[in-house]
Amino acid sequence: ERTDKKAYEEAQKRLKMAEEDQRKILPELRKRSRWEYLNKREAEKLEDLEAEIADEEYLFASDQMTDRERKELEYKRTLRDLAKDYKKAGVKEQQERKNRYFMPEEKRSKEVPQRELELEEMPMEVGGEQGRWEEERLKTACLSFGAKQERERGMKEERDRYQLILEEDEMINFVSSAVTMKGTMTEKGEEAGLSQAEIRKESIQEVRRLLPIFPYREDLLAAIDQHQILVIEGETGSGKTTQIPQYLMEAGYTKGGLKIGCTQPRRVAAMSVAARVAEEVGAKLGNEVGYSIRFEDCTSERTILKYMTDGMLLREFLTEPDLATYSVVIIDEAHERTLHTDILFGLIKDIARFRSDLKVLVASATLDTERFSCFFDDAPVFRIPGRRFPVDIFYTKAPEADYLEACVVSVLQIHVTQPIGDVLVFLTGQEEIEACCEMLQERCRRLGSKISELLVLPIYANLPSDMQAKIFNPTPPGARKVVVATNIAETSLTIDGIIYVIDPGFCKQKSYNARTGMESLIVTPCSRASANQRAGRAGRVAAGKCFRLYTAWAFKHEMEESTVPEIQRTNLGNVVLLLKSLGINDLIHFDFMDPPPHETLVLALEQLYALGALNHLGELTKRRLNALDVNKGLAVPLSRYKCSEEVLTIAAMLSVNNSIFYRPKDKVVHADNARMNFVVPGGDHLVLLNVYTQWIESGYSTQWCYENFIQFRSMKRARDVRDQLEGLMERIEVEVVSCQGEPMPIRKAVTAGYFYHTARLSKGGYKTVKHQQTVYVHPNSSLFDEQTRWLIYHELVFTTKEFMRQVIEIDSAWLLEVAPHYYKNKE
Ligand code: ADP
Ligand code: MG
Repeated sequence: ERTDKKAYEEAQKRLKMAEEDQRKILPELRKRSRWEYLNKREAEKLEDLEAEIADEEYLFASDQMTDRERKELEYKRTLRDLAKDYKKAGVKEQQERKNRYFMPEEKRSKEVPQRELELEEMPMEVGGEQGRWEEERLKTACLSFGAKQERERGMKEERDRYQLILEEDEMINFVSSAVTMKGTMTEKGEEAGLSQAEIRKESIQEVRRLLPIFPYREDLLAAIDQHQILVIEGETGSGKTTQIPQYLMEAGYTKGGLKIGCTQPRRVAAMSVAARVAEEVGAKLGNEVGYSIRFEDCTSERTILKYMTDGMLLREFLTEPDLATYSVVIIDEAHERTLHTDILFGLIKDIARFRSDLKVLVASATLDTERFSCFFDDAPVFRIPGRRFPVDIFYTKAPEADYLEACVVSVLQIHVTQPIGDVLVFLTGQEEIEACCEMLQERCRRLGSKISELLVLPIYANLPSDMQAKIFNPTPPGARKVVVATNIAETSLTIDGIIYVIDPGFCKQKSYNARTGMESLIVTPCSRASANQRAGRAGRVAAGKCFRLYTAWAFKHEMEESTVPEIQRTNLGNVVLLLKSLGINDLIHFDFMDPPPHETLVLALEQLYALGALNHLGELTKRRLNALDVNKGLAVPLSRYKCSEEVLTIAAMLSVNNSIFYRPKDKVVHADNARMNFVVPGGDHLVLLNVYTQWIESGYSTQWCYENFIQFRSMKRARDVRDQLEGLMERIEVEVVSCQGEPMPIRKAVTAGYFYHTARLSKGGYKTVKHQQTVYVHPNSSLFDEQTRWLIYHELVFTTKEFMRQVIEIDSAWLLEVAPHYYKNKE
């Protein structure tokens, strides 16, 4: 007992010293961070500022100002507004805390005063004003770091050696901060690094005690004891995922063989965290501590702490509808709002009503906790105060054309100019990550001994787990680690030692077109909330820097405030099936935190009916479906018609949304002629297939696209989607076969997948079979002038009239063949 306490105190002291050292170096950084103006003292200066502005407004009004003065006034006004906002935000936060938040006040002021200080002093993210501020800061940065000869020379040398991605002003920032910090920062950093390495060497138990959550262990357990449902909010890396379940085990929640379940939205996180906790507990993975993910169950009879993907817990409802073997369920990473997590919310809220002994914890990064609290009948929020050092944010002056290249250059730039500290790069997927790692390794090889060692480590979902574990190994002295990750490192995994973050601002997101029922994964700009989480990763162990490979303007104007919950942008087929299997028939009134769009739900029901999974009462039939059936209408009949090769292409081409053909205003005739060259009989699906096939023959050529008025970007995206689909097919072991472009099987396959999108020729237009609605072939279609008797359309769009877009000719006899249950009564 006593030795433990002593060790803890010592470690605390060391940590404090390291932090103190950091703090001494900070003023220089602070001078330029938004923080300076946003901290309390500055807010108090508001009055002075107001007075100054009032004086100058007079000059301004009488038009007696120079340009420079006018600019300064403008700047002061912005500053004033910012300070006002800040004050307001502060007041609001205070109130919130009083009203709703359950704060472990006492401990905070007595035992760990430095934490409170940090919390008060470093309000990093005060919502959307960040963008405004950053822009302001960029404008002034050149002023404060004007033209120093020395620096320019240094810069020039730098530029000669590497192609720098940052523009002049940012480069001054970039380089100059290195100049001011070198010498001091490197030494201190090493010291801090050393003491950290020492801390690591100490027993695992001691590391556990150093986590921000540790001082609140007792309060947390008391709160859990008092409340059935508790929302827990804490900075990423504070110890929620790894520690809370252990505290619960230690407190006896697993007595009598009851289990603790902790859900993760990502497979990698479930595996990696379980491995870590098993080590901390001193158990073999799969014994007391285990994990369960799709296709892989690493648990046993003895398992009392189970990490699992949210999807797996959903499945457990099928065998154990009241989760009777669980004493605690933790829905972790709740802020991610994955489809499965959202469904879990509704189900768990429901069972908690009759299982009063079940504890429910909803853990989340510092986002959205208010909403969780509301949803769970005003459950209290337990907020774990986090450590967070300031993070300087840099933007590029102009958009980056090739963000992969920009990432590589930035990493090298950091490596040669910045003091020690590891780098975290956010990319969108495996392919990109592998490419980036290769490029980095290649360039390091070329530079050889001119630079110090750079360890390049990838992390993504399909990486073998031994490779995954590598990212957590401490960086050897003298080297620098670069972790190239997907979104997984945003909040799910914490890698210690990260000081620099490179954020291209993209992520892969599922998107769904409710008109067509098509779902695809596309690379899209991430949200501001996401970008801020990413930046936060740089400030966990010391003051950090985040390099955003987009402009401050883009951050402010082009990014969404927060990520749309998955439930709003996905096909609900599988979820509907699952809920129906659980006996939940009234889906319209299911307790969703954010209900999905009505049309999406209806479409899912309709598709399931059409596929024969539901009967006309909306009840489950016996027919078993696999994931692919429900997700990709087109993929259903793949094995039957032996043309999956072609159908995959068509599905991919359709998914890029009518952006294949390019029609510049000054070359309309050329473009239309080029388009005519691709036309083949039978319909638009076959035309798209033809375009793709020819593109392959050109060797995926950009030039070919250009000459044929085809948009290269769209083709590239189609290719990505196609690869994904093909991967999916492999996973569910459906063979990919080709019909050599033979149109008949392809048309049949499309019919089988989209039979509920049928239209027949009638007077003056077409009538849909479904609603007897009058529709027309879109003028862009290859079948526009034809009088085709039966058509299948891909989507309906309403512009001047109700148009069918992407149509294919079919034979009405096929309809009965492919979907007898649907057409029996209609004929
Ligand atoms: P939170 O859930 O609050 O984001 P975690 O419990 O995941 O925090 O992380 C707490 C600490 O555990 C972090 O310092 C992190 O680096 C460490 N950690 C988590 N997983 C691993 C792992 N697989 N290997 C080594 N350290 C890990
Ligand atoms: Mg976590």
